[in-house]
Amino acid sequence: MNTISSFAQLDIIDPIRRALHTEGYRVPTPIQAQAIPLLLAGRDLLGCAQTGTGKTAAFAIPILTRLAASARRDGLRGPRALVLAPTRELASQIGDSFATYGRNLPLRHVVVFGGVGQKPQVDGIRRGAEILVATPGRLLDLMQQGHVRLDAVEALVLDEGDRMLDMGFIQPIRRIVAATPRQRQTMLFSATLPPDIVALAGGMLRNPATVSVTPTASTAEKVSQWVLHVQSAHKRNLLAEVLRDRAMARVLVFTRTKHGANRVAEHLNRGRVCTAEAIHGNKSQSARERALAGFKKGSVRVLVATDIASRGIDVDGITHVINFELPNEPENYVHRIGRTGRAGAAGIALSFCDPSERTFLRDIERLTHARLRVVESHPYSGQPRSPDATT
Ligand code: AMP
Repeated sequence: MNTISSFAQLDIIDPIRRALHTEGYRVPTPIQAQAIPLLLAGRDLLGCAQTGTGKTAAFAIPILTRLAASARRDGLRGPRALVLAPTRELASQIGDSFATYGRNLPLRHVVVFGGVGQKPQVDGIRRGAEILVATPGRLLDLMQQGHVRLDAVEALVLDEGDRMLDMGFIQPIRRIVAATPRQRQTMLFSATLPPDIVALAGGMLRNPATVSVTPTASTAEKVSQWVLHVQSAHKRNLLAEVLRDRAMARVLVFTRTKHGANRVAEHLNRGRVCTAEAIHGNKSQSARERALAGFKKGSVRVLVATDIASRGIDVDGITHVINFELPNEPENYVHRIGRTGRAGAAGIALSFCDPSERTFLRDIERLTHARLRVVESHPYSGQPRSPDATT
């Protein structure tokens, strides 16, 4: 049991404590309460937690504390902390978090990811950034070109480890880790612990402490979850219908495919239902950033995303998550709905379920040990499939 209920009980240095205060953080989240003392004590850590639990601060605060407390080792110029993340979006957000929590400290960070020019990134590393946040592919590329050395790394984080392995990053990760000193503090965070993650942890972590926040239970408690049974052909019209409710102020819609995401966004824009943008891997980096910025600002009311593209989308105040299609992996359902109801706020998740998706629904209910409540009457409940419904 952890009994830590305020940041004052954690041994956090004053500049960081002030930054947390400015951010409005009053109470540590469970992962923070558990992980921060262990990390401040220098332990390696295996953290089982998904995005949305406050895990970024759980590792960023101890890292900033460590870097602020000691000087760079003689003769070494490279980054002192390295964070690996699967996607550009997550890497950017982790970089922003270091800037936020470290705003009162003289520490610099640089974020490195593919799909954009490397010069500004290389310049940032040259200028001596202490903290490097990177996606594995681009970092390995820069290492091979001789732009970055990792021999000064004292703290290493792998974030969303399971997703990085799903995305095929195991080889780059192995090579990057091998280029860091053996004497280091290592943290591995992952939403799930499949055997390949356990194996990776075994090779990387020294006598790690394990902390786990149970996303399934906590998610089910915070988010009110509903299912609307509807034929696939009626889903777009049902979406337009539910969006008439202005309480749905910031809505994240999930589809299974990129095409599906584009079609749903187009339907909403063309029908003048609301402003919507699609975000997925086929969009350029600048288009994704624009969509995300609009969503954060409120000029885009609906963001339509695929599972991969949504990883690491860290937008506060998402009022509703809509599963336009149910995910075929139930873990993805938990990730999806975890985007609403963050940091203690209430959230609502609606799932549109075609008869062909009933088995996915059963898998989800089995994983979360909860039954989704059924919206019995909606405009498309019980209607037979009609050929003109998609027009
Ligand atoms: P993360 O899981 O790191 O992506 O964090 C999820 C969200 O929770 C982010 O928007 C953070 O700004 C927010 N957050 C993290 N820690 C706290 C806290 N102790 N109090 C309030 N909000 C927090």
